Order: sequence, then structure tokens, then C-alpha cells
Amino acid sequence: MATSARTYKARGIVLRARNLGEADRILTLFTLEHGKLDGVAKGLRRARSRIGGRLEFGNEVAVTMHRGRSLDVISGVEILREHWSALVEPSRFAVAAMASEMIDAFCEPDLAMPDIYALLAGMLAAIARSAEPRMLLPRFSMRLLEALGIAPPLDRCVRCGNLLAREHAWLDGEAGGFVDDPCRERGRLLPELAKEELANLRALAAPRGAEQRAVRALPSVARAVELLVAHNLGRRLKSVAAAGDLGTKSPAEDIHAQAL
Ligand SMILES: [Zn+2]
Repeated sequence: MATSARTYKARGIVLRARNLGEADRILTLFTLEHGKLDGVAKGLRRARSRIGGRLEFGNEVAVTMHRGRSLDVISGVEILREHWSALVEPSRFAVAAMASEMIDAFCEPDLAMPDIYALLAGMLAAIARSAEPRMLLPRFSMRLLEALGIAPPLDRCVRCGNLLAREHAWLDGEAGGFVDDPCRERGRLLPELAKEELANLRALAAPRGAEQRAVRALPSVARAVELLVAHNLGRRLKSVAAAGDLGTKSPAEDIHAQAL
């Protein structure tokens, strides 16, 4: 089909879908070109729908969009990467849902974020092949906060600016990051990270290819990352609450984390 002024193409990942009327669905895609994008898939819930199976959660698709009065209409779909058959496995689905919820909550319509697009695409591919998908979440979360520019400084106290390198640090959500011993409020019980835990956190946030990079979070660090995400979001992830606690259990290596 030829593109016209009323038609455009986009490459995107299916974040979620909700029903509209009797047969239609509204799909939320995270697209490379336009950031978050809602589109209507007409007749998607009818058995004869040509595009129904292609717009499953987590799939990466090339869509042809037709500009509508309020919402744009998805007129064509081509699958680029199909993850759905692997993501239906419950532990994978839970983690993919958390990653998608974070992207949905932190990213905006009409704002392309190619680094974050690549991060999500890599994350879903890693989840789809992983036997221990929860292990992938802390690094994904830290890389996402870094890419959004909202990760707290990981080497300095957010109150006084002193280096945290030599001592314990406390995660203070109200202060927006980590505080050292002199700056922590005594009356409040804050999660405490020791030196090796801080090092693990920094390594989780390190870019792909960095020497001091880690893909596996210590259990206490995984919980701290979850708190950081909740602090930035202003709430806990709904999908985390649904899936239970996030602590990592097994020390087994997961080679698929290398993709992140
Ligand atoms: Zn301080």
C-alpha cells in the first residue's frame, strides 16, 4: 500500500491492549519513531481478523497507521520479532509485564527514545530465552532510570555530596537517592547497603560493554532497585504487586543476560 499524508509506518513493541466496543481493541505500542503510540485495531476480536495474532503482547511489529479523528487506526501489521509463544510461560510473562509497565509509565507519546527502545527490545528477547527471567529485572530497571536521566547518583550522598565509596549508604526515597551516615535521619528505618552492595548497584547501572558491568543483583540490591523504581513512579508497579516479591534466589548464571 502506498503511503499518503494520512498514512504512516512505525516500528513498535506491543505494551498492552484494551477492548473498545464489541470487536475492536486499542493497542499501546512503544515505537521507535514516535515513543508511545495508541492505535485502534478494528475487528481484532473477530475470529477472521487478519492481524489478530500478530499484535500479541511483547511482539515487535511494523505497523501501517491511518490517521483517525481521535485515535489512529492500525491498518497493517507485519511481525518483526515474535516473543508471545515464549512469554506465555508465567514467570516470563510476569517479568515482561513489569518491564512493559515501566516503559508505559515512564515514557511519553510523541517522544522518540531510541536507546530505551533498544533496551526494551533486548530485554524482551532475553526474557523469552531465560529460565530465570526475574534475574534480568534489576539491571533493566537501572539502565532504564539512567536512560531517562532519573537515576540517583550512585557514588555520592544526595544530601551533602560526600563520596559513598568507603562506607555504608542508606536508600532514602524522600531525599531521592542514597545518604551517608551523618545525613541519615535516625528515627527512620531506611534500607542499608554495604560497600559491596553499592558496587553491585553501580555495576548493574553500567552501560553495555562496560568493564565493571554486572547482570546479577544481590537480593538486597534487587529490593533497593525496586524501591528506586517505586520512588520515581510514585507508586509500586501493579505487576510487581501481582507477582509477589522480587528477590533473586538462585546463583545460577544466565547467559541470556549478556544481551542487556
Ligand atoms: Zn551526606
